Amino acid sequence: MIDFHCHIDLFPKPAEVVTAIDKGNVYVLSVTTTPSAWAKTNQLVRNSAKCRTAVGLHPQVAHERASELDLFSFILKSTKYVGEVGLDCSPEFASTFKTQLEVFTKILRYCETEGGRILSIHSRNSAGPVLDILRANPDAGVPVLHWFSGRPEELAKAIDQDCYFSINTRMVNSNRAIDTISKIPKSRILPESDGPFLQINGRPAMPHDIESVIQCLSRIWNIPMNDTRGIIRDNFYRICSTIEL
Ligand code: MN
Repeated sequence: MIDFHCHIDLFPKPAEVVTAIDKGNVYVLSVTTTPSAWAKTNQLVRNSAKCRTAVGLHPQVAHERASELDLFSFILKSTKYVGEVGLDCSPEFASTFKTQLEVFTKILRYCETEGGRILSIHSRNSAGPVLDILRANPDAGVPVLHWFSGRPEELAKAIDQDCYFSINTRMVNSNRAIDTISKIPKSRILPESDGPFLQINGRPAMPHDIESVIQCLSRIWNIPMNDTRGIIRDNFYRICSTIEL
């Protein structure tokens, strides 16, 4: 299976997480929050066949890390995965929103220059502006909206703009999010753990926890779990084959 958004480098013992991933059957997209974290995180998984490292610049630190944009564009040449990037207009981060817009726009332009990338995107309280910027930069690549929580009309727009959605265990335990998930075409869904930010019973979510996402998708779609796994695998291969490095 596939965990499309996990912060391996932010676990207390990242090397142990990588060992657990290698013993399991889940491929993991390891996202980062700053360009300067990429080298070390990528080093951590250098011997792992199951992990890939995305270069990120999280919107919550965009105002502190805008100086790392050059490094971002440099790393971008060696990975087809970008994340975590995006916008966050929740009250704590509204004051940095202008800088976030500048940083996210530059990132999408770099991706366009490189011929497109696969993007894991944060859009808390900002689905509208995220979709506007994606529409203005159509060649940036394949957008995957991580932990989407926008309004129904924003969801409709996102589907219309060919976005994918990564779904975590918190979402499958919320009625509102289940309503959202049921409106997304099956061909646009991927699972994510978002560990260690997302906690399950007081411990960080791990890649193997996406099994409960698969279970819930099967219930929503009313199909056997093996069929759900097949759909997810197809979605993952489709995304990967869109972008050549
Ligand atoms: Mn995250």
